[in-house]
Amino acid sequence: MVVVVILVFVVIWNFDIHKILFVKSTSQNAGDSAALVASRWQAITLNLVGDLNIMNAIAVSYGDTAAQDSISNIQARICYSGPMIGFMAAQQAAKNNGVYQNQDFTDILIDHARAVRNDYPSAVGADGEPLFPEPYPGCWTDYANMLDLVAADGVAAGPDNVRLYTDHAGGHYLLMKDYYNAVAGKIWCWFFNNAPELLPDYLNFFPCWWAPLPDIPPLEYMNSEIFGLGLVKRRTSLDSLVTPSSFMDVVADRDSSMASTNIPATTNGVAATWYCYDSSLWTKWTAMSVTGPDAFPLTGPVKAKYDYAGADAAVRIEAEAGRITPGSHGTPVTNTIVWSAAAKPFGYLNETERPNSYSIVLPAFHEVALIPIDAASSSSGGGYDIEWRRHIMKHLPNYMENGPGASTCWYCQQLVTWEQESFRQEGVIWLSTNSWRCNVPGGPGSGGWRGGGTRRGH
Ligand SMILES: [Zn+2]
Ligand SMILES: [Zn+2]
Repeated sequence: MVVVVILVFVVIWNFDIHKILFVKSTSQNAGDSAALVASRWQAITLNLVGDLNIMNAIAVSYGDTAAQDSISNIQARICYSGPMIGFMAAQQAAKNNGVYQNQDFTDILIDHARAVRNDYPSAVGADGEPLFPEPYPGCWTDYANMLDLVAADGVAAGPDNVRLYTDHAGGHYLLMKDYYNAVAGKIWCWFFNNAPELLPDYLNFFPCWWAPLPDIPPLEYMNSEIFGLGLVKRRTSLDSLVTPSSFMDVVADRDSSMASTNIPATTNGVAATWYCYDSSLWTKWTAMSVTGPDAFPLTGPVKAKYDYAGADAAVRIEAEAGRITPGSHGTPVTNTIVWSAAAKPFGYLNETERPNSYSIVLPAFHEVALIPIDAASSSSGGGYDIEWRRHIMKHLPNYMENGPGASTCWYCQQLVTWEQESFRQEGVIWLSTNSWRCNVPGGPGSGGWRGGGTRRGH
């Protein structure tokens, strides 16, 4: 079935050659090219989902429900196969640039494919209902097969903004990297801006003061966890999602011969299934905001037509570089080189409108470009940051039960620091006279006073 879907891709895409996606950068290094390639497939897939929405409108106007079902089914499949092709292509791009597969990354993927194949179909939520119902019959098996296919060739570029279905919902300080950075760097402003009660209120173990880690959110899972598109399905009438004239402009732009067909007159008010942008993900691009306490150091605001988050691709490459000089005890020293890069599809509708101006997905993406890694979407579960993922999955449950303890894990070490009452007191005292500094954008030594505690500047 995967093959059929890929064929559909190729066939439809070739009809669209006059608008071929333009990859801006010819840089390349391994991280950049892997991110660009992955993102290019996100753009291609989004355009295809949009084209299929147009075809669906035609099917609705003819009252052809069988065709509507087929189109919906293809859309459900390409929400996985499109990003998976991007995932495969990203590995090839990294390898073409001289990076070898990373055995840890490959092992994570093999484990994950096994979980998708065996655990997802049987996982049950608190209410006894299946936690991850399949978007179409056989989806988890298809998806696991594609993950295994990538793992079989070895993973060189780890996807670093994965949204695993089993990730916690976030909304807990222990799941925020910024919290640990704030403890390690005594970034008291982070507490002032993000967690004002935490320093004075926290009480040492035992019992565990923290609220339990949040549950897995009950969502309709229909997007690839890796390089997903952030889409939802909505059953409603076309004209409730997009104004008929704007829709017809897009259609005419795709195929001028269809400009005269009167889709609106035959579809208005008729309920059908449409693939739409998930408004909780396709927000304004707040990570690039130049105002607020966590302002991004840009010279000016992001142009309105680029001001959207949504689908993007962040990759992580970790390669070992051996040094010739032995260490002090005569053992060879190896350094791990970490490279992150991110890219994102960009485009417009009807020349000037944002791609997500309407909640329905329409073919709009014209290019992909690299973006700052800190402006990319991130993963509450740690993506392919193995230390972080291990901390969340293995160390935190143990910490909640047994309290902090000596560890080689950097995050666990911050929890030991946090447990010192004198440490927290230092923050409370500093903030009692200096909190005004936390609201001065670019204020005294702005690097040090910025309350963000972000990854920026590393
Ligand atoms: Zn840890
Ligand atoms: Zn860092």
